[in-house]
Amino acid sequence: MINKTYLEMLGHKSVIRELSEMATERGREIGYENVFDYSLGNPSVAAPKSFDDAIVELLQNEDSVALHGYSPSTGLPEVKQQIADSLNRRFGTGYNADLIFPTAGAAGAIAHALRAVTTPGDEVMVFAPFFPEYVPYINMTGASIKIVPARFADFQINFEAMNEMFTDNVAAVLINSPNNPSGVVYTDKTLNDLADYLRLKEKEFGHSIFLISDEPYREIVYDGKTVPYTADYYENTLTCYSFSKSLSIPGERIGYVAVSPRAEMADRLVAIMAQISRGIGHNCPSSLITRAMGRTVDDTADLSVYERNMNILFDEFVKLGFTVKRPGGTFYIMPKSLEPDSVEFCRKALKYDLILVPTDGFGAPGYFRMAYCVDTEKVERSLSAIERFVGNEYPGY
Ligand code: PLP
Repeated sequence: MINKTYLEMLGHKSVIRELSEMATERGREIGYENVFDYSLGNPSVAAPKSFDDAIVELLQNEDSVALHGYSPSTGLPEVKQQIADSLNRRFGTGYNADLIFPTAGAAGAIAHALRAVTTPGDEVMVFAPFFPEYVPYINMTGASIKIVPARFADFQINFEAMNEMFTDNVAAVLINSPNNPSGVVYTDKTLNDLADYLRLKEKEFGHSIFLISDEPYREIVYDGKTVPYTADYYENTLTCYSFSKSLSIPGERIGYVAVSPRAEMADRLVAIMAQISRGIGHNCPSSLITRAMGRTVDDTADLSVYERNMNILFDEFVKLGFTVKRPGGTFYIMPKSLEPDSVEFCRKALKYDLILVPTDGFGAPGYFRMAYCVDTEKVERSLSAIERFVGNEYPGY
């Protein structure tokens, strides 16, 4: 018998995907170069040459049977060590290979982290605005998502609302900084306050509460800053990372979970995740891609285009009088819609071939998201479309 849960999910397709399909369709009519498609967070730059070279070199020089063979269920030891060394070098952490679990991207990392530290019936807290895929990521584990409303002034954590909603059922808290969709980076103070609060609640409820830190945009950060490393703040942290954006290889599906050495049962969690893999049929990412990633773990694609695009769009929205927070990282910006119904706002924008995403699905209605992982030349051309849109649809604004 067909599973009705999944059948019903077909009726709730991702708005982002639908808009992206609409953009492709419109592109067939007028040429995709004339569609200002800001819908999908698909990196627009090439992977670094070092990554491609690593693949070629592996294919030319490694034994084919070993290279393409099954890897151990907890991941390839030498690559786990390369990841641990890189994190320790950069963040002064104390990881070893046994604390690293390679996965298929951040999605795979979160799937394992969630299952490792929650059981069906538990609650997982997230903070609006949040990546909409968190809903299926969490709900399909049997736990349920609990959404803390946004703090609109700065899109840091709304601690007041969190405190009102926090119960003994919360087994994990899932955060994402730099944040999709707001582009905001959680401050040192936010992370300190969160860590203090969770420690207090662990004591009060007498059980651990894990912090799952989703960090696929860690390397896309502006003004020469670095993102505070979440696991430094809180003991029970599982860091979920992806190379999709930093190496610009989302289709290669590679990332990892890093278990904090200070976490409860730190020495067992990777083994537990390998058992979770058995249940969900994950069984390690591709060994060729894992090895190539290990050799280029400290590299990134040329990410400078994102900061350039952000500055152009931010300046434009400020000039037009929009309420908008300057992103500290990612390749997203989230201005406030010019009418309360942001779905309607984005629908009107379509007339100008501007593909904007309403943020209702991100838990922060009244705003819209632009994924500016597109060519700078196109961003510049889109400014006149934005101005025509605002001028015609919101005259006198
Ligand atoms: N988390 C966030 C916040 C994202 O934006 C994305 C993808 O865009 C993911 C997780 C999933 O990333 P991956 O491609 O590594 O699975």
